[in-house]
Amino acid sequence: MLSPNLLDALADVVGRDALIARPGETRVYECDGWTMAKQVPDVVVLPQTTEQVAALARVLHRHHMPFVPRGAGTGLSGGCLPLEAPVMICTSRLKRIVEIDLVNRRAVVEAGVVNLAVTRAVAAHGLLYAPDPSSQSACTIGGNVAENSGGPHTLKYGVTTNHVLAVEIVLPDGEVVELGGAMEDVPGYDLRGLVVGAEGTFGIVTKATLRLVREPEQWRTLLGVFETVDDASNAVSGIIAAGIVPAALEMMDQLIVEAVEAAYHFGFPTDAGAVLIVELDGPAAELDTQMQAAIDVCRARGAREVRVAADEAERAALWKSRKRAFGAVGRLAPNYCTQDGVVPRTKVPDILRAIGAAAARHRLRIANVFHAGDGNIHPILLYDERDDDEVRRVIAAGQEILRACVELGGSITGEHGIGVEKINELPLIFGPQDLLVMQALRAVFDPDQRANPGKIFPTPGACVEITRPRKQASA
Ligand SMILES: Cc1cc2nc3c(=O)[nH]c(=O)nc-3n(C[C@H](O)[C@H](O)[C@H](O)COP(=O)(O)OP(=O)(O)OC[C@H]3O[C@@H](n4cnc5c(N)ncnc54)[C@H](O)[C@@H]3O)c2cc1C
Repeated sequence: MLSPNLLDALADVVGRDALIARPGETRVYECDGWTMAKQVPDVVVLPQTTEQVAALARVLHRHHMPFVPRGAGTGLSGGCLPLEAPVMICTSRLKRIVEIDLVNRRAVVEAGVVNLAVTRAVAAHGLLYAPDPSSQSACTIGGNVAENSGGPHTLKYGVTTNHVLAVEIVLPDGEVVELGGAMEDVPGYDLRGLVVGAEGTFGIVTKATLRLVREPEQWRTLLGVFETVDDASNAVSGIIAAGIVPAALEMMDQLIVEAVEAAYHFGFPTDAGAVLIVELDGPAAELDTQMQAAIDVCRARGAREVRVAADEAERAALWKSRKRAFGAVGRLAPNYCTQDGVVPRTKVPDILRAIGAAAARHRLRIANVFHAGDGNIHPILLYDERDDDEVRRVIAAGQEILRACVELGGSITGEHGIGVEKINELPLIFGPQDLLVMQALRAVFDPDQRANPGKIFPTPGACVEITRPRKQASA
């Protein structure tokens, strides 16, 4: 339990009404979207300004107290689990859009601003913020920066790090530093780039300067319907090989299509082996030619039907079904667990075969809905947590799938981060020297390892043993 002294000092900074310390209320913060492990924080603090965050950090520094930053808690790797960090600093009240510079296409926003709110704030001027995680109506810019989040449209536009020009971060001793700058190229080491993807282990991001891009002149969105996952995977490679760079290239297999159709009634064919959503954007003059080329590739790779969205309403309905796909998974099984791996996109057919083989070997049902153009897979392992044997098989199959990703030249996470979920898999991709270098880098920002302990790197006393997967949402 925290000492009354510390609680008083925190309250002096933010006021009593910005502290949540009652057990019934702190339980809300016991996990993120990865629910395999839970830990209730002793106190959740809700600062409203950078100055308050810095003052809180100074108090915690004086008390040698570790802390965990939290945005909206939509993370999928246990990143904001308060392991060995009884104090949670939640940025949800840091929600001001500080500045919109239309001429230079930049926005300065506080860390608690919700991703979609940025695009909504500039849409009337024909601009948007490109990284669009499927959780974009809830997740915060601070969380996006910490996880270097992607989304369906990052195939063409890149992930968060490509759209963050500068960050303001409060270091664990309370110092406020600005890294990066408003210019495209800043002299010196790219310290901004280190903070993006650091999963909250360097301190608390309080502001970010974001790049805005012009809304494309037009979109064309098609649905390709395939008899087999293999045909759809080959079409993914074929589209890229034809020199087309779609804005998005997403795949859903039969199992997930059945669930999505039952939930949202878009009109997906439930007997198809897989469907592809291909979106092209850009100047209207070139879109029809490119779309015809994508249609030709789909047909050549065995598409039994290719349907082009007739209007904006149909396009929106298609994306709604895709982005809410995980909401429909509850129809398939009492519990599910999502993996997040990545392979070179030419290896998508191989990894899907490996997932199918793991499903057969472990007698499991595994659904797939994922960012196929990036090779970023999200197999959803379906199970019933009352069946201990099935639980063991789910864990074994998940680990096998990640190993297969690495063997195919990929990695253990495409966008959800390491958090606590993937700590044990780190040695699959990094040697001891790599880990030492990373720890040394971290020590520059956080020498006492008080910012989000127990994440990315194993910390003695802060380990989580994963024995039971539970229900989990995903991208
Ligand atoms: C339905 C669903 C769909 C999703 N789709 C996608 C997707 O398409 N692409 C994708 O990449 N992810 C996706 N995610 C995962 C998740 O939404 C992202 O990782 C998101 O960036 C997390 O933001 P958050 O505000 O919820 O952060 P949280 O979950 O609160 O925190 C995530 C991590 O960031 C750290 N953190 C949070 N705020 C700060 C801060 N201000 N300073 C420093 N560290 C901080 C936390 O300590 C933690 O380690 C999805 C999740 C769900 C539930």
